[in-house]
Amino acid sequence: QYVKTDFILAAIDAVNSAILSHEADIEGLDRDIGDGDHYINIKRGCAAAAAMRPELENLTPDAALQKIGMKLLSSIGGASGPLVASFFLEMAKAIKLKQPVSLADHAELFATGVAGIQHRGKAQVGEKTMMDVLIPVSALFTQLASTHAEIDADILNAIKAEAEKGMLATRDMLATKGRAAGLGERAIGHIDPGAKSCQVMIHAVCDMLLG
Ligand code: ADP
Ligand code: MG
Ligand code: MG
Repeated sequence: QYVKTDFILAAIDAVNSAILSHEADIEGLDRDIGDGDHYINIKRGCAAAAAMRPELENLTPDAALQKIGMKLLSSIGGASGPLVASFFLEMAKAIKLKQPVSLADHAELFATGVAGIQHRGKAQVGEKTMMDVLIPVSALFTQLASTHAEIDADILNAIKAEAEKGMLATRDMLATKGRAAGLGERAIGHIDPGAKSCQVMIHAVCDMLLG
């Protein structure tokens, strides 16, 4: 069990179709507390990554992740482009140094990607961003991986629930990073669009693994 390029490509396809089926909610959220482009930004990135399949298929995972990251950097734009890109670029670096074998290794790899986003965006939990989904999900994955040898339905369902909880928690937060930070109290009552899109992506990959 280790990350193979096939898995990365399948996950991208799953994320791509999940994002397409959540256009209305994701777009509406960025219209409420942003500039309305988050859905378009993410959709463009997903489409660009999915279209890379032929050139990625025969690459090693680290090379594939690196190429995807560079493509996302140039195709997504907005605040979220460099953030999402660094998830892939940091994992590319890490996987080159250490091929993940155990479930704990995979959790560590995911955490490295999340740390890459946090290093770039500097947001903590509670600032009404995608980090409110990614940080708790990564922490839970690390915890579960320390007590389980293999990924199973219980782990995947727990991760899905954690992503949902983190996404919903952004509703009552004040934004202190990103575009919504300028809205003050007006942002309260609205879910963060980046938290929503991350939750959709995490659910898509979990559902793919649940089969
Ligand atoms: P823009 O705000 O430039 O239009 P997007 O609409 O694509 O970019 O992305 C907005 C999302 O980016 C927000 O909903 C939030 O989740 C995320 N975001 C913004 N700033 C940060 C940050 N510093 N750290 C983490 N995520 C952030
Ligand atoms: Mg926006
Ligand atoms: Mg924008």
